[in-house]
Amino acid sequence: MDCLFCKIIAGEIPSTKVYEDDECLAFRDIAPQAPTHILIIPKKHIGGVDEITEENAAVVAHIFTKIPEIARKEGLTDGYRVVSNVGKNGCQSVRHLHFHILGGKQLGDSMV
Ligand code: AMP
Repeated sequence: MDCLFCKIIAGEIPSTKVYEDDECLAFRDIAPQAPTHILIIPKKHIGGVDEITEENAAVVAHIFTKIPEIARKEGLTDGYRVVSNVGKNGCQSVRHLHFHILGGKQLGDSMV
C-alpha cells in the first residue's frame, strides 16, 4: 500500500519519534503549526476517522490514553488541541488515521 505513514511506521521514511508501542506511533509533524505539533497514528492502517468501526476502535481508545501522557511529557500543562481531519472537506492530506496534538501557545478559538 502506498501510504506515507505506513512507510514511516516501517522505518522507510524517517521521523522524529516521541512515543512508540506495539499499537501506535507518535512523531513530530514535519510542518509544525504550533510550538508543539505531534501526530499520533495506529500502526495498523485505518484510512481516517470515517473508517473507524466496532472492530478496529480499540486502538483509537488506546491512542486516547497515550495522548494525555504525551502531552504531559511535552509540558502542555496549560492545555492543547487534538484534531483529526477527515476526507476532502476536512482537508485530510494523508489517508492514514492520525490525530494532531497541538500546543505550546494560546491557540485560536476558531475551529474553521
Ligand atoms: P492532515 O492534513 O490532517 O492529513 O495532516 C497530515 C500531516 O502530516 C500534516 O500536518 C503534514 O505536515 C504532516 N506530514 C506530512 N508528511 C510528513 C512527514 N514525512 N513527517 C511528519 N509529518 C508529515
